[in-house]
Amino acid sequence: MDRVKYLLAEKEMPTAWYNIQADLPVPLPPVLHPGTKQPLTPPDLAPLFPMELIMQEVSRERYIDVPGEVIDIYRSWRPTTLFRARRLEKALQTPAKIFYKYEGSSPAGSHKPNTAVPQAFYNKKEGIKRLTTETGAGQWGSSLAFACSQFGLDLKVYMVKVSYQQKPYRRMMMETWGAKCVPSPSMDTNSGRAALEADPNNPGSLGLAISEAVEDAAPKPDTHYSLGSVLNHVLMHQTVIGLEAIKQMEHAGEYPDVVIGCVGGGSNFGGMALPFVHQNLTAGKKTRIVAVEPSSCPSLTKGLYEFDYGDVAGIAPIAKMYTLGHKFMPPPVHAGGLRYHGMAPIVSHLYKLGLIEAKAVNQLPTFEAGLQFARTEGFISAPETNHAIRAAIDEALKCRETGEKKVILFNHSGHGHFDMAAYDAYLSGKLTDYEYPESLVREALKDLPRCIVG
Ligand SMILES: *Cc1c(COP(=O)(O)O)cnc(C)c1O
Repeated sequence: MDRVKYLLAEKEMPTAWYNIQADLPVPLPPVLHPGTKQPLTPPDLAPLFPMELIMQEVSRERYIDVPGEVIDIYRSWRPTTLFRARRLEKALQTPAKIFYKYEGSSPAGSHKPNTAVPQAFYNKKEGIKRLTTETGAGQWGSSLAFACSQFGLDLKVYMVKVSYQQKPYRRMMMETWGAKCVPSPSMDTNSGRAALEADPNNPGSLGLAISEAVEDAAPKPDTHYSLGSVLNHVLMHQTVIGLEAIKQMEHAGEYPDVVIGCVGGGSNFGGMALPFVHQNLTAGKKTRIVAVEPSSCPSLTKGLYEFDYGDVAGIAPIAKMYTLGHKFMPPPVHAGGLRYHGMAPIVSHLYKLGLIEAKAVNQLPTFEAGLQFARTEGFISAPETNHAIRAAIDEALKCRETGEKKVILFNHSGHGHFDMAAYDAYLSGKLTDYEYPESLVREALKDLPRCIVG
């Protein structure tokens, strides 16, 4: 019997996260204060984050222990399964071997609880009572709602308005786990009220929802803010994915030639990719590592590598990253989780250094790939994940042309059970492609902050 599943025993679960900052050939540029535009210091971040997460953000330790309390919760769905996509390979008639790591089995249905749980844990440990956050498609809000319920923390989620309207089930999940969820822009903050005054029909964006959540948390001593992607500590928490995958590939007797992940803010990609970048940097491996983004929000492939604000209002820290400009208003494509204007500084830095590749794909081909995956492998995938599946299928099809027996590994970031309206739109021919115009990129980039550093 050909094996399709590679499981790990619980005792093989990683007990430490991997921190790529220990191995970067050039250190990351500093993160700047939005007001002074000077490098941020740990105390600047203390109104928003617990000190342990702030120290992880700047740490150069190669491995950081996962707390026992976090491992206990990880255990309810980790280690996740690595699959060999034999039925997909057969349908594609490819000599390539395709593997995927399935992160859809967490309580919230994606990779996001991998960081939501430790973030809730460190906040609880510091005596924090309440968290605020933003959410795009609702996956992050629901993941943090789950994590907060585990530690008895209150949570308020600012949910991008288009998604709030399109995806009521995600709001219901958050409420089921005890969180409060409002559409963003809301009337509850200055940033929200200003946006609604300018345009009462503002559909919202991740950058704007971040402004609201930060503004809510910063002045309150018992409240912190939590971010589900982009930050260094978030990518580090996600490395449990890649660390497990390395062991599972070993059990499969293979090592990947190509590692693929979809990128919004960069966390699931980073989680899978960073341990493989480590192997490339230190163990002489030559794996190609590919980040896949939507053509409608092409921060890596069309954005500029510049210092920019993390949010729309310009109250979040300024980081050097590939950006479409913080005022970027994404078109309402269905992969809501991929609609952020910027990109994780770590992913941006690796791309700038030429250590990873990037590629943009259009919406229709991603759904075509998602359907082929569902009809072979069975899992119905999140529209975000379909970007990774598209790229993996394209690699496998290239192998059919060349006869190469490449080993392809991609991260399957989550299931699409709450995205059936998007599948319905695709199946009934209502979805369209959207290429973000070059002129709009130039327009949005006019608002970049003026910084002395870099
Ligand atoms: C949030 C999300 C993404 C995109 O976020 P990253 O931080 O880039 O990983 C991708 N896939 C799924 C299923 C998500 O929920």
